[in-house]
This record gives sequence, structure tokens and C-alpha cells, in this order.
Amino acid sequence: MPEGKPAGVRCVQLREDLSCAIFGDPRRPKVCGGLQAMREMCGSGPPLVARAFALHYLQDLERITAPGV
Ligand code: SF4
Repeated sequence: MPEGKPAGVRCVQLREDLSCAIFGDPRRPKVCGGLQAMREMCGSGPPLVARAFALHYLQDLERITAPGV
């Protein structure tokens, strides 16, 4: 997304299975490749629980960084 991904807008590289279509590709934004997962982002528990926790965390980031918030 040449102008960056606005908060609340689905990334054009996000596949239906929620994987990144350009993972490992040099065109992937630095902010994406540089994101280091921390326990507070993933919680604890089995992988499916951690995944749900992380998705909720990302949704919160989208919400609190949306323009006008
Ligand atoms: S990792 Fe970055 S480029 Fe890939 S889908 Fe997520 S926001 Fe888009």
C-alpha cells in the first residue's frame, strides 16, 4: 500500500487465512518485519488461544491508532 495502511483498513497483502502474501519479500514494509512479538501481545496458552489473543491485541491497536481517536 504505497501510502501506508490506514488504521481500520485491511492490508491488501493479507490473505484470507490471515497470512501475509509478501512474508519474506523485501517489499514487505519494515514496520511489519521489525515487529517483535512480546508476551503481552500473544498471551499464553495453546497456539489457537495465543492466536486469538494476538488478533484481539492487533484489533485494539487498529482501534486506538485510528484517525480521530
Ligand atoms: S505483515 Fe504487513 S504487509 Fe503483511 S499482511 Fe500484515 S500488514 Fe500487510
